[in-house]
Amino acid sequence: MSHFIIQSIMYYIAKAKNILFTLFCCCILLSNVAYAQDKSQTAPPPNLPSELFDNTPLTPTKIFDNLYCIGTKSVVAWALQTSDGIILIDSMWDNNDAQLIIDGMKKLGLNPQDLKYILISHGHGDHYGGAQYLKDKYNAKIFMSNTDFYYMNNTFDGANSSRSPKCTVDEFLTDGQQITLGDTTVTVVSTPGHSPGCVSFIFPVKTQGKTYMAAQWGGTGIPKSMENKVQYKSSLEHFAQYCHDNNVVVETTAHLFADNGYAKLNNVVNSTSIENNPFYLGQKGIDNYLNNLSLEIDRAISNSIK
Ligand SMILES: [Zn+2]
Repeated sequence: MSHFIIQSIMYYIAKAKNILFTLFCCCILLSNVAYAQDKSQTAPPPNLPSELFDNTPLTPTKIFDNLYCIGTKSVVAWALQTSDGIILIDSMWDNNDAQLIIDGMKKLGLNPQDLKYILISHGHGDHYGGAQYLKDKYNAKIFMSNTDFYYMNNTFDGANSSRSPKCTVDEFLTDGQQITLGDTTVTVVSTPGHSPGCVSFIFPVKTQGKTYMAAQWGGTGIPKSMENKVQYKSSLEHFAQYCHDNNVVVETTAHLFADNGYAKLNNVVNSTSIENNPFYLGQKGIDNYLNNLSLEIDRAISNSIK
């Protein structure tokens, strides 16, 4: 059976499960109206940053000549302009967010009709939720790892609630794969841990006639289980090797709250050279960034052992 048939079957099974789950949730909600009225609907679950549920739009912003950031305080998508159309990295939470991406592209002078590829870093709703809407509208191809395609279709709580429509996937991402559109190639790095099939991306950015390499670590938060933490650590080492081999000097993220990103977004409009672009870290800065991630995961592992 072809991948596409299996995908379609899994998609409809997941859809049916989703409907049942939604009905179940409705029952629970109806029986707990009094309780629900006391709770803020936007209150984040414990252990998740409150910014993750802040849908305040950010100003769509050009970061490099070929790279644009569009999103909310919660999460952003990155539009990478190539000579043959646009590659979108992640798609935010839901259909409303997908429309925000479209509106943002228009404000930036990008044509949403040029959207060709949507690369999904991992199977959490805040990254895949807008993808199907964009695919249906512009016939864009969706890419995600096989592992997280399965994970997405079988997870219905936390960031994978019914808020985020599951999407079909046209091509599965694998470690070391190169996705080329026109003059631009994105390298995929398999970095499981944050989710079972999380991937990270390395891609070129251009400014003042020069090209630099950028990297986006796919999964922001440290996972709960020890097994996943250990996997996260080894993925980080794998990713660091890729960053080193590709001379990465620019860092982007889907969650700007995690990395002083709101300030970077405000300041980038005043940058006059690569050195004062706040997303440019240089090789030393990238080493520091990766070292900090490494220290964080080491700390999390040792705290779990205590
Ligand atoms: Zn996630």
